[in-house]
Amino acid sequence: MRRDPVTAFVALGANLGDPEQALRHALAALVQTAGVQLLQASSQYRSAPIDASGPHYHNAVAAVSTTLSAPELLTALQTLEQQAGRQRAQRNAPRTLDLDLLLFGSARIESPWLTVPHPRMWSRAFVLLPLAELAPEWVSEQQLQAVRQQVIERLANGPDALV
Ligand code: AMP
Repeated sequence: MRRDPVTAFVALGANLGDPEQALRHALAALVQTAGVQLLQASSQYRSAPIDASGPHYHNAVAAVSTTLSAPELLTALQTLEQQAGRQRAQRNAPRTLDLDLLLFGSARIESPWLTVPHPRMWSRAFVLLPLAELAPEWVSEQQLQAVRQQVIERLANGPDALV
């Protein structure tokens, strides 16, 4: 069944190997997925791991237009994580690629496998800062204030540097 396209926001993160390249590859692979079109990609950011040790993360957010359902999009993201060699060793373990579905149109989803909006997105600077570049209407000044202690820097590349 063909669905009307929905705008979804996907968070990308990596902290092993060459994380900048990992994000570029992930975005290229994401937009090659059938039913997914890139609308816009944020700058890359560099952030300290939260509740974990290990190297700093590179993070970004992509806005996509998709005719997939939210569960289908999540499955596509998990396939890309696996292709990037991600091992789910332990919670918050370093990862070659982490892809989270942040927002799927205005949908609210609560299933055992998928919660949208992503439940932890509002407490993470590495999500809110790149998301605010693409969709400032989703991120309030108050929310940005609440994460301002978190260690994060915007890398010196422009908004389309990931594409
Ligand atoms: P993580 O290890 O942080 O990538 O979490 C992956 C797990 O979170 C998977 O079992 C997913 O089914 C679940 N999950 C729930 N909601 C989401 C979401 N919005 N985006 C990505 N994974 C989700």
